[in-house]
Amino acid sequence: VTILATGWYPADPIISVLVGGLILWSSFKLVKESVDVLLEAVPSHLDLEEIRASIQRIPGIEAVHDLHVWTVTSGYFAMSGHAVVEDVERTQEVLSAIHDRMHEEYGISHVTVQVEPRAIYQIDVEERAQ
Ligand SMILES: [Zn+2]
Repeated sequence: VTILATGWYPADPIISVLVGGLILWSSFKLVKESVDVLLEAVPSHLDLEEIRASIQRIPGIEAVHDLHVWTVTSGYFAMSGHAVVEDVERTQEVLSAIHDRMHEEYGISHVTVQVEPRAIYQIDVEERAQ
């Protein structure tokens, strides 16, 4: 058909290769996204250490541990972690701040945070050391 339309012989194989390449590229992307979901990998556009540092900059937060970021499904990301607070009275304020930061800066829509007073954090650390 291409030859009839253009009279140019190389058109057919060139278009075939282009279409093949396009199919290969989109399959690769699909497979990679599926593997990321299955392995619960940190989404490639997000940096776990940067997210950790960003949470630690929130006033009232002393430390962050057990931080996880993963892909629930294509384009939908989740985060969970423990935040050690200086003052448990400020729990709601700290939770809102983490929530907003995850949404606005990183596009993470599902956020689960356990707030801990320093005493519980010490137990966590000691259990891990055993
Ligand atoms: Zn903890």
